[in-house]
Amino acid sequence: MPIHGHAAYAAKETLKRYEYQPGELGPNEVEVRVDFCGICHSDIHLIDDDWGMSRFPFIPGHEIIGSVAAVGTEVSRFTLGQRVGIGWLAGSCMECEWCIRGEDNLCLKPSPTCVGRNGGYAELVRADSRFAFTIPEQLDSAAAAPLLCGGVTVYSPLRNLGVKPWHTVGVIGIGGLGHLAIKFARAFGCEVIAFSTSLEKEKESKTLGAHRFVLGSDPDRLSGTANSCDFILSTAHTDLDWNGYVRALRTKGTLCVVGAPPEALLNVPAVALLLQEKRLCGSAIGSRATIQEMLTFAARHRIGATVEVMPMPEVNAALDHVRSGKARYRVVLKT
Ligand code: NAP
Ligand code: ZN
Repeated sequence: MPIHGHAAYAAKETLKRYEYQPGELGPNEVEVRVDFCGICHSDIHLIDDDWGMSRFPFIPGHEIIGSVAAVGTEVSRFTLGQRVGIGWLAGSCMECEWCIRGEDNLCLKPSPTCVGRNGGYAELVRADSRFAFTIPEQLDSAAAAPLLCGGVTVYSPLRNLGVKPWHTVGVIGIGGLGHLAIKFARAFGCEVIAFSTSLEKEKESKTLGAHRFVLGSDPDRLSGTANSCDFILSTAHTDLDWNGYVRALRTKGTLCVVGAPPEALLNVPAVALLLQEKRLCGSAIGSRATIQEMLTFAARHRIGATVEVMPMPEVNAALDHVRSGKARYRVVLKT
């Protein structure tokens, strides 16, 4: 039976109806009937082939919540109809050094859900069952979908890169990832500064949990934050005044990049890093263990994405809405 969805046929084009034959279900695979799928900016980078890794045609979508429609012969963990989530990875090699260490998000031969395979802007999607996650019952499906990529991408560095409850955390870019970073950092007990290019997000970012708002695109206001943050997470999908943000770090502070602007070169003077032992690093999604832990944390602290739900057939209007920067804060498609 073919699977129907909405695919990009070439770079930067609008999506069109598409069907593909998925073949026989693998012994470890799970087939999921999609209920909700978030629009991550990575889907837009893939549609535009910003990273040169897109393989057309393909169905985007990797923030998926749905129900198990079929399981392979070796799958005993799931029952039909059970609610599950799938994120950026639909599988990993399970054999490389990083998979063995439990850092499968760094797998050397990964299988991203919508690179070389078809993702969640569709009625059904498939993944290795070991990359499908049970969703705590306290979480609403639409609000939980963006946690599978956006949520874990911001949770993982806050969890794993030494952020402490007494730290001040800056979040650059208050979009899908950024608004979740504010919610998680606040729940971790941190002081949170929202760095945004949009003045109209000042009030909203405080409602989301930020203690302070800074118009980061204004050089004077950015320089006014010098030596204030222990940790800064950049979620912006565009190039930034990196030097200004390195100056915003306190001694031994870390600037971690999760936003993936294709054109950005992080041009920072070496001296600015070494004199105060500042660190610059990147972080990629999160491991399976981190995803499951993040879901537990989100359920306990009632953290879900703030979403705008749009019907799946209106996917092109939904993509335009995200591109326009007007989404508040994650658009989620509903089948
Ligand atoms: P999004 O919802 O579109 O939000 C991006 C935010 O960037 C915007 O809301 C905006 O916030 C800010 N921004 C826009 N133009 C800007 C500019 N000129 N200068 C500074 N900030 C600007 O995107 P998203 O889904 O959160 O994804 C963000 C990035 O993370 C993308 O590049 C995506 O590919 C990447 N990503 C990486 C990983 C990973 O594993 N590392 C995982 C998922 C996504 P303000 O209005 O507040 O400025
Ligand atoms: Zn994503």
